[in-house]
Amino acid sequence: MLQKEQEIGLQAVSAAMAMAAIIQKETTGRDTLTKSDRSPVTIADFAVQALICKVLNRHFPRLHIVGEEDSLAIRRPENKELYAKILSYLRKTDPGFDEKGLCHCIDLGGAEPAGTFWTLDPIDGTKGFLRGEQFAIALALIQNGQIGLGILGCPNLGHEAGGTLFWAIPGQGSWSIPSRGGSAEAVRVSERIETRQMKFVESYESSHSDKDRQIWISKRLGIENSPEQMDSQVKYGIVASGQADIYLRIPHPASPEYREKIWDHAAGSLIVEEAGGRVSDISGKPLDFSKGMTLADNRGILATNGRIHSRVLEIIAELDGQK
Ligand code: AMP
Ligand code: MG
Repeated sequence: MLQKEQEIGLQAVSAAMAMAAIIQKETTGRDTLTKSDRSPVTIADFAVQALICKVLNRHFPRLHIVGEEDSLAIRRPENKELYAKILSYLRKTDPGFDEKGLCHCIDLGGAEPAGTFWTLDPIDGTKGFLRGEQFAIALALIQNGQIGLGILGCPNLGHEAGGTLFWAIPGQGSWSIPSRGGSAEAVRVSERIETRQMKFVESYESSHSDKDRQIWISKRLGIENSPEQMDSQVKYGIVASGQADIYLRIPHPASPEYREKIWDHAAGSLIVEEAGGRVSDISGKPLDFSKGMTLADNRGILATNGRIHSRVLEIIAELDGQK
């Protein structure tokens, strides 16, 4: 089941990881536009979305793609130079990439979520990408609200920082391979039960989660290490592979109406669950991917090695009771 989706998805994400890693090295902090929500978007976001959408559309023409980006900004005459740069990076990976097809390929990712579809975050953690740090390429197949396949490319995580590619299918476990090649290995969460030794990960960006509450919870659990901060779904990869035990994302008090986007969690959450961990929102509800582009019925995220999950939920509830 889903063998072709897995094979083609892994090839596409793998090619995109190599391209994005080169763009990150060559252009860090430059070649960036600002979106209407004031978040940054780089030439890598456009190039990766174009590359992956082109491949997926060629092999699965009937499957819709819900991607984060669109081509509006790079169609503007003042962004002609960026357009040319995106094309030049794409052509290093796919020499026949057609100049006029660039916007079309990016906008193949403009579908509405319904039925069975792909969801793609071409560069998750754009701010980390720009700082020269962690970022991820996240692709998932959603089948009537259930995640059927999750693929997570982490170009700066592990294997001597050549990066790691993770994937999972329900019931088949989580797997990883070094980006530079090698054999697939089963990915498992940690077996740690002693909370003092646990590692806690959270967003780098202070506006993406409530760090004051998170540090309180981490202390209440008796965790000795300070939370480690990093961008993107790499946090899910780290929990899935036992390098951390808890990833917590409590909504920031300044943005209580913010709803998590499906492409920010679909691939990563399946990879943690299939590695033996647990993922829910901060009230313990399973993540519901059937509500459109956002997790409209969920608040925040908790991903753990499973063993500590209900204890963290209890402490969150206790903290809420003190409000
Ligand atoms: P992270 O690197 O884990 O902080 O996650 C990056 C993602 O956070 C981006 O892809 C955004 O979609 C998302 N994001 C943007 N604003 C917020 C917010 N106010 N609260 C939570 N997540 C956000
Ligand atoms: Mg993202």
